[in-house]
Amino acid sequence: MLDKKRWESRRLVYKQMQHEALATRRATSLQGFLASKRWERDNWIWRTHKPALYDDRVDHHCTACDKNRFLKGWWKEKNPAHDTDTHPDKDRYMCNACFANNWDLMVPIAYSSKLIPIFTSPEYPPLSKNQRPKAEQTTDEAKNEREEDDKDRHA
Ligand SMILES: [Zn+2]
Repeated sequence: MLDKKRWESRRLVYKQMQHEALATRRATSLQGFLASKRWERDNWIWRTHKPALYDDRVDHHCTACDKNRFLKGWWKEKNPAHDTDTHPDKDRYMCNACFANNWDLMVPIAYSSKLIPIFTSPEYPPLSKNQRPKAEQTTDEAKNEREEDDKDRHA
């Protein structure tokens, strides 16, 4: 029998994994949006940052995760309040993954009328049906799926 403590820690690991999965989905979705260049065409504006999308990966330091990363998708601070003595003229960047998961910063203040879902809720994008663990499915859903399978087989 699994003791309660071990069960609890497993539950936390699972929650953490779920959270990270959402963070990754958001980062991927925002990266795709950047690549579409829609923000450029329609003059989207963000409060603190502007997209810095490169054709090839570049090295920058992310001010949020505090790591040096080698990426194509970055967000450049518009008005860095930097210390000019220690960092003269130093641009400040956030990596796309951190920016995508900072709800306060990532929602644009000026945009075309059609917002993609990641800008409308920090819970987007949801897991697709296939990615969802079986345990989360209701029995009805599982049953329907089985019935669909049967139909396919008999068709
Ligand atoms: Zn980062």
